Amino acid sequence: MKIAFIGLGNMGGGMAANLVKAGHEVHAFDLAEAALAAARAAGCTTFASARDACAEAEAVVSMLPNGAIVKQVYWDTVIGHAPEGAILMDCSTIDVATAREVIAVSEAHGYQMVDAPVSGGIAAAAAGTLTFMVGGSEEAFARAEPILAAMGKAVIHAGGPGTGQAAKICNNMLLAIHMIGTCEAFAMAEKLGLDPQTFYDIASVSSGQCWSMTSYCPVPGVGPKSPADNGYQGGFAAGLMLKDLKLAMEAAAAVGAKVPLGDHARAIYEDFARENATVDFSGIIREL
Ligand code: NAD
Repeated sequence: MKIAFIGLGNMGGGMAANLVKAGHEVHAFDLAEAALAAARAAGCTTFASARDACAEAEAVVSMLPNGAIVKQVYWDTVIGHAPEGAILMDCSTIDVATAREVIAVSEAHGYQMVDAPVSGGIAAAAAGTLTFMVGGSEEAFARAEPILAAMGKAVIHAGGPGTGQAAKICNNMLLAIHMIGTCEAFAMAEKLGLDPQTFYDIASVSSGQCWSMTSYCPVPGVGPKSPADNGYQGGFAAGLMLKDLKLAMEAAAAVGAKVPLGDHARAIYEDFARENATVDFSGIIREL
């Protein structure tokens, strides 16, 4: 299938390469020359503009920094430029309202579209093991699913337009809260004279167990290998966690959801990211 791919950064670069590996003809575009060169090396055909990349596409995938850029790219270069009937998939993490607006406008122009944000970082994007949370109609999901499956280990239909983004921000709000809680518990256990490995051995089989502890332990040398073992580099940057928490707080305000811990987690990551935006989000343990 001819697939246009717009946004070949840390995530999009690996994802586009996996579409090539799955046998697709990938028509790629990014504003950065280095990203285009890497995409060519991975077997993509690169174009001078997003419009050109979309011109013959049967499907369009985008992986862009934020909602304002997603809107601009869809308004100026995808809608009315990709062939009518193409299936459109935005995998960026953006606000729910913008995701719904872009899908509505795309559908009004005869396209089917899903929001399909991902869980999993740069390594999962490269390995093709992302989880996609997909919002859109049953028909749009059925068309998007096999394409997304070439880039991930799980593709889950969350519901109507925007529910992929809703799932993503609720999941990441919960992740931020249990990471901070895990860090607090390990730091306090140590101050109370407990060896971190011993505390892990106990808590990981007790009721405090959670993903932040058993899959992504913030203490170096404890649990499976994680960014803590690599100086808190190479995982999910605190700046990106803060971005997701801000989106979550916006969405909570829009629907009147009470999220006191989510809001506190946002404030804690806001402080931390001021000087540590590129540090893995588990590095918050250093502040405790
Ligand atoms: P990135 O900054 O590495 O990549 C974004 C790319 O988009 C860049 O290469 C940039 O040149 C390109 N771009 C910007 N404006 C453009 C335009 N108008 N036209 C074409 N290309 C344009 O970011 P990333 O880490 O790849 O993240 C992409 C998205 O994935 C974000 O929404 C992010 O929140 C989400 N995400 C990231 C991670 C992660 O661990 N990095 C994990 C899950 C989700």
